[in-house]
Amino acid sequence: MSTSDRIEEIYEQVKARNAGEPEFHQAAAEVFESLHVVLERHPGYFESGLIERLCEPERQIIFRVPWIDDQGNVHVNRGFRVQYNSVLGPYKGGLRFHPSVNLGIVKFLGFEQIFKNALTGLPIGGGKGGSDFDPKGRSEQEIMRFCQSFMTELHRHIGEYTDVPAGDIGVGGREIGYLFGQYKRLTNSYESGVLTGKGLTWGGSQVRKEATGYGAAYFVNEMAKTAGTSLDGRTAVVSGSGNVAIYAIEKIHQLGGTAIACSDSSGYIVDRKGLDVALLKEIKEVRRGRISEYVDERGDAEFFPGGNIWNVPCDIALPCATQNELDEDSAKTLVNNGVKIVAEGANMPTTPGGISVFRDAGVAFAPGKAANAGGVATSALEMQQNASRDSWHFDYTDERLAGIMADIHGRCVETAAEYGKPGDYIHGANIAGFVKVADAMFALGV
Ligand code: GLU
Repeated sequence: MSTSDRIEEIYEQVKARNAGEPEFHQAAAEVFESLHVVLERHPGYFESGLIERLCEPERQIIFRVPWIDDQGNVHVNRGFRVQYNSVLGPYKGGLRFHPSVNLGIVKFLGFEQIFKNALTGLPIGGGKGGSDFDPKGRSEQEIMRFCQSFMTELHRHIGEYTDVPAGDIGVGGREIGYLFGQYKRLTNSYESGVLTGKGLTWGGSQVRKEATGYGAAYFVNEMAKTAGTSLDGRTAVVSGSGNVAIYAIEKIHQLGGTAIACSDSSGYIVDRKGLDVALLKEIKEVRRGRISEYVDERGDAEFFPGGNIWNVPCDIALPCATQNELDEDSAKTLVNNGVKIVAEGANMPTTPGGISVFRDAGVAFAPGKAANAGGVATSALEMQQNASRDSWHFDYTDERLAGIMADIHGRCVETAAEYGKPGDYIHGANIAGFVKVADAMFALGV
């Protein structure tokens, strides 16, 4: 059987076994596409059911999360933790609280996380979790009760050497605090290394909050250098306005670029002079408000309710909101408007059709598992600090992050070239991540 046929056969099995999980199929298909060149050259990777084992999570936990709202009504949500692969270290990956969360979404995220974490070069396995709970409009007390109930079940499945969750969409420093508080209460031990993204006064790391966004900007900077240019005078459009987007904008500015647009679920704003990061932080982090409030305070900025942020012409596009937010039509618009670099700050924000458009147009395209790895990499730095009961300074931690992103970039570029796909960051990231995990899986036996 040809390599292509063998890959196709395994992919069909994976789809059949995980029916009704389109996002997971999409994530698997993207990795499988990159593996052709590796498996042609090294058919040994087909042995001992390696690919089949890699696609099947080591453990999938689904649990009930009951909680009481401020009016005394009982709600029941569903909690998930997919412990995907622990060959390189304890399972590591965020928790997402969003109504769209289901097992397939958590599996796609967990699968991506395996390769992303491998790419960081740090000893962390891959996992992901979350709940279909919608934090929007919920009071502080309701959020706290939900987090406590979630951890009441989750605590028995995690630990510093087992599984180390962090935040993702809908889970930030506040939620990690409530989750850690409940973990500590239930276990009667101050096990700092069980969660990352903690507050700075109780075991958190400098730069963790900023890390995914800063990391994506560092990655873009490396891409620009490789293309023989820089971020100086370049415009960027960044979707989203959470942690990833805000800190990507901040670092793009520090590196000489100008971010001119960002968004939330109600629409997008354009500020051609460059987005005011302090104001964005005030609106999103302090007030927990809507992006439209920005234009009330910045006269020449414009708010576009609904609409498509990818219609805004730019040199660099950073999708930092959520999966499949940038489709084929948006990609065509970006290309027609002259986009040069696209880097995914979110996980799998570009549809397969969108990716093809960028590829065909020769746009430098970095997948999330490389470009947004700065968050989880800094989580691993937080684990290091917790394990050694140490606390590093901001500048030192930021330098480590910049170094890690440059290494990931280098690994992608070298691997892509080695496998005959020069300049293809998707192949570079998938292959480099795969080879590292696969070799470790062989070493540890079936
Ligand atoms: N949720 C982030 C990601 O997608 C961070 C995970 C972590 O820090 O464990 O990589």
